[in-house]
Amino acid sequence: MSLTRPLVILLLLALLGFLALQRCAGERPQQLSRSRILMGTVVEISVHGADPGRLEAAVTDAFAEMARIERLMRPAGEGSDVARLTASAQGTEVAPETAAVIALGLQVGAESGGAFDMGLGRLKELWGIETESPRVPAPAEIRQALAGTGQGDLRLDSRRVEKAQPALAVDLGAIAKGYAVDRAVELLRRAGIESATVNAGGNIRLIGDHDGRPWRIAIQHPRDAAGQLALLELADVSVSTSGDYERFFEQDGVRYHHIFDPRTGYPAGRCRSVTVVTPSAALADALSTAAFVLGPEEGLALLRRFPATEGLIVAADGTPHVTPGLEARLTWR
Ligand code: AMP
Ligand code: MG
Repeated sequence: MSLTRPLVILLLLALLGFLALQRCAGERPQQLSRSRILMGTVVEISVHGADPGRLEAAVTDAFAEMARIERLMRPAGEGSDVARLTASAQGTEVAPETAAVIALGLQVGAESGGAFDMGLGRLKELWGIETESPRVPAPAEIRQALAGTGQGDLRLDSRRVEKAQPALAVDLGAIAKGYAVDRAVELLRRAGIESATVNAGGNIRLIGDHDGRPWRIAIQHPRDAAGQLALLELADVSVSTSGDYERFFEQDGVRYHHIFDPRTGYPAGRCRSVTVVTPSAALADALSTAAFVLGPEEGLALLRRFPATEGLIVAADGTPHVTPGLEARLTWR
């Protein structure tokens, strides 16, 4: 009798220990990273959680959603709202997702005094910066391409987009990647993911944190391809960088890159790079492009007009400008 009780206790303890071990093994966080080429860039999704099967399924669904957004918003191709809009003389009805992106783009366009412009499709084609054969167009060609541009000629009424200028070619290249990242994050969240990063070519959104610590996001040095300019410690937020080093060609010692100043039709010359931190990836994407065109002073003023929005702007001469709220989360490299 006197021996049975300790034995029972011992067995109970062993059982508890076994159960605890099982639980730990089941809940040990796993990491799963997958990448795909979408929207002309590398998209990487990295998720953390206990159940590998569930992680894999969530990532597959998130990529499928991003591919769906790409189809809607790419400049040409079957099923693209943007292609239909550009081809139409007066405008057309678009999917709710496209309407949401255009609504946000119109807002950033208005807030930036026209520096952000989704109507630069013809100018983009003329320069061909992202093609095999980019070239510096003649001034007359630029004037002609600009004559058909300007998102001031776009009106949005619910899901109908009206074009006041038939030649207007729509280009969502400065905002659609961010939006696709937001959609991916929405699906990951719905699948119960509480810790993840989604990165579409410098348009990053973070879900939660990394094992109780902030994520460390490296900002590329705009003049040293292998170097880092700064490290940002962030959680549950988006961070987008626009830079003149991303897509460019050089001619006679001049760098011609892919972000245009709508006022001149030439690549914007006031910045080397702009990083924007704000909750939504679509807004971070649009604001980083807009602030790049505006330059450090007006760019920082633009960021101040949006709540919970911070930024790091590297001016054309290399001087960094940081919003006060970001300084505490930034380490220079
Ligand atoms: P990002 O890399 O997000 O800064 O976006 C650059 C892309 O946006 C370019 O490749 C063009 O497709 C488009 N773009 C260029 N200049 C502008 C502008 N001023 N406003 C809006 N979109 C632009
Ligand atoms: Mg952008």
